[in-house]
Amino acid sequence: ILLFFGSAGILILIPISYFLAGKSLQPVKESYENQKKFIADASHELRTPLTVIQTNVEVLRMKEDEILSENIHWLNNISSESETMSKLIANLLTIAQADNNRLVFNKKVFDLSALCAEVYDLMFDFANQQEITLRSDIQQDIEYKGDEDKLKQAIRILVDNAIKYTIAPGTVTIRLTASMRSIQIAVIDTGIGLSSEDKKKIFERFYRVDDARHREQGGFGLGLNICNLIVKQHGGKITIDSELGKGSTFTITLPKYSL
Ligand code: ADP
Repeated sequence: ILLFFGSAGILILIPISYFLAGKSLQPVKESYENQKKFIADASHELRTPLTVIQTNVEVLRMKEDEILSENIHWLNNISSESETMSKLIANLLTIAQADNNRLVFNKKVFDLSALCAEVYDLMFDFANQQEITLRSDIQQDIEYKGDEDKLKQAIRILVDNAIKYTIAPGTVTIRLTASMRSIQIAVIDTGIGLSSEDKKKIFERFYRVDDARHREQGGFGLGLNICNLIVKQHGGKITIDSELGKGSTFTITLPKYSL
């Protein structure tokens, strides 16, 4: 530009460089803002169970002369809040590893039908306790090349959510099917459903639908973010079909690799 226009080129270069600088700074600023929000949200979510633990410890301190069996209730509170904290820390760790490209995926051939059946067995009692009928509709002998543990984590997140966000008595179905080119794992619930507005946002970190029923369930809004990043890492996608008050279907579609 300077060669062609001489010193007048400076007048052209200045606005161009301003424009380019503005453009390139935008994503940096956005990612910095996201980071700040992430740290603030994570600190808040960690502080809440910690406060409950500290309060329960204080109560136990005041009852130091009483026998332990009479105070088991406070110990149970401490134990369940510690469990909540450790789940959150595990999720934060997964997300931090993903952000730093340190999340390791060990891909090998495994039986996806058996994996879905395993998740079904794992979640059956939890569903029963909530008076939700867990069903399985699993096409047999589907082999897949991927990270078995991570995919199990992803399917568990969807089934866990389906159970949490379904009012008893309801049904949750795990359906595994395969077509020529892809494999579908659908988790179908008869639950509270999602608005189209919320559908767009639920993969964002810490996003939770702001409604009493959702708050009661005590999640952190990290599960779907993690599920999405695992599925994307396998070249797949998650789609949602949902209607408020009727239920939701979350479908993981994975491309079939040559095994
Ligand atoms: P959480 O730990 O809060 O469940 P997720 O990231 O797994 O976090 O989900 C984000 C939000 O999406 C939930 O808080 C809930 O509001 C909504 N959600 C997820 N799954 C379902 C579902 N099957 N039915 C209705 N709402 C759901």
